[in-house]
Amino acid sequence: MKIIQILTLLFTMSAPVWAQSSQPLLMNIHTAENFTDQQYDKLMQAKQLVELIINSAAFKSRVLNFSYNGTQEFVQNNGMSNQQIYDLLMTGAEMFPQQTASDHFMDFDLVLYKPKWYQSKKVLGYTDQSTNVIHINKSFFNQASVNEIAMNLVHEWVHKMGFDHDFKNTSRRPSSVPYAVGYIVRDLGSM
Ligand SMILES: [Zn+2]
Repeated sequence: MKIIQILTLLFTMSAPVWAQSSQPLLMNIHTAENFTDQQYDKLMQAKQLVELIINSAAFKSRVLNFSYNGTQEFVQNNGMSNQQIYDLLMTGAEMFPQQTASDHFMDFDLVLYKPKWYQSKKVLGYTDQSTNVIHINKSFFNQASVNEIAMNLVHEWVHKMGFDHDFKNTSRRPSSVPYAVGYIVRDLGSM
């Protein structure tokens, strides 16, 4: 009985004062490798921006109203409506590399890396379904504005949520969930 009361109290206290009726989605950066203090500061600014945007009414509206070719849906949407995609993202329940609980935390393990000379300098970063780790191109990170870093973090995280896009730069790729949601974050972050 006592334990339940204490847990309830802790749970109540952990909710930020600005929380609305639904629980906010926050970022949890578990690890950040190869970051200097200055780069880590920039990462923290991007984290703040992501949390501000993703919990905003403007973000919700942009996701719910997103359309491709005159239809209100994302490309490669895994059979989900815009509302279902929004609701899923807000749970923070990653699918890869393994299914996590709806804990309202976006989980991140980050590594800054320098691409090899034969790899594209244009790649902002990458991840895959077998690992928690998201690689961010160091030269992109250094020259990017905070809202562009926020875009990149969200893009890679949306992959963890189970959404994919064309490998090649097709005309529909910008309307895939990782790209489109990333662009929404970038654009709202530039205002
Ligand atoms: Zn991607």
